[in-house]
Amino acid sequence: MPKKLKLESILVHAGAETDPTTGAVAPPLHLSTTFEHQPDGELLNDYIYIRNGNPTQTRLEQALAAIEGGSTALAFASGLAAGAVYFQSLAEGSHVLYHKDIYHGFLTTMKDYLHKWGVSASAVDATDPGSVRAGIRPNTAAIWLETPTNPRLQVLDIARLAQISHAADARLVVDNTFATPVLQRPIEKGADVVLHSMTKYLGGHSDIQGGALIFAESGRDAESASRIRTALGAVLSPFNAWLILRGIRSLACRMQRHSANALALARRLEQHPAVERVHYPGLTRHPGFEIARDQMDAFGGMLSFEVAGGYERAVGVASRVALFINATSLGGTESLIEHRASVEGPGSQTPGNLLRVSVGLESADDLIDDLIGALDV
Ligand SMILES: *Cc1c(COP(=O)(O)O)cnc(C)c1O
Repeated sequence: MPKKLKLESILVHAGAETDPTTGAVAPPLHLSTTFEHQPDGELLNDYIYIRNGNPTQTRLEQALAAIEGGSTALAFASGLAAGAVYFQSLAEGSHVLYHKDIYHGFLTTMKDYLHKWGVSASAVDATDPGSVRAGIRPNTAAIWLETPTNPRLQVLDIARLAQISHAADARLVVDNTFATPVLQRPIEKGADVVLHSMTKYLGGHSDIQGGALIFAESGRDAESASRIRTALGAVLSPFNAWLILRGIRSLACRMQRHSANALALARRLEQHPAVERVHYPGLTRHPGFEIARDQMDAFGGMLSFEVAGGYERAVGVASRVALFINATSLGGTESLIEHRASVEGPGSQTPGNLLRVSVGLESADDLIDDLIGALDV
């Protein structure tokens, strides 16, 4: 690959070198769990056993490091597995400071599991950098956030929070699942680690699960996470690695279309009398609009909105759509709608009248007709 390429070209070519043994242009899928070695155990190639690594995973990890502008990437069985390994890699006695609006699965990790690994955690409102500074403790090892957030689409200032982290000698970890590197590159803004649920936009077709950590610098943090992955086994399957590689090839086109469709839908929803609030960072009245405009190239395919009339009306809208599918998850080609509080269950912090939408790649006109039709009754 030539050295200085734009991201769209890197997405197409990273980890896609033609197979040297056959000339195959599409990457080979290596399913082997074991690799021949010398009688004395010396490696013949780079591989020994699938839990340690495999060639299809290596291609994906090279691609991930290239697209996020990191030095090293590690693939995992899921986004949550990637996060769990990161937390397990922190020194015993460490503290994690996290933004209060994060993926609900990570909230569970913070509340129910971190202490078992000898790590404490506390929440702050990271839309206010002053509270982040005040929340830092002498043992704070990492500040953890996602932006835009799930499901309220809050926007956090990555560059500002990176400065605050580094002044406290803590790492900044950014879950970049919603934006993807097509729209936002946290490492360029100073983040130390980027996390992905590759189950979402990177895979892009609602048919695989995977997670990733991408480290700005190679070294102790990445090596420690890699050792834990091998020791405890949160590995990705080669088939999923292969499908994610395929998803990455079209990521730039997909994110542009997801973003254009979501902006059109958000603008239409904003005008509807039955909608109390639309949470989408591309709307000028969104409180994070200016930061989003500075740190993102477009505003992404996720939005949520609050329906006037509360829980009953919101669930009613979700029950009347025909093109949108009532389903969890996000980032696929098809549009999904979900009443989040119901899915998050007891203890959910999400308003009862909120519907979250993953805007797919259909015609924006059809999506608007479907959702506005469901609101109009
Ligand atoms: C889905 C999701 C996760 C968890 O990823 P899994 O692959 O489901 O484990 C983490 N963060 C965000 C923002 C997500 O949307």
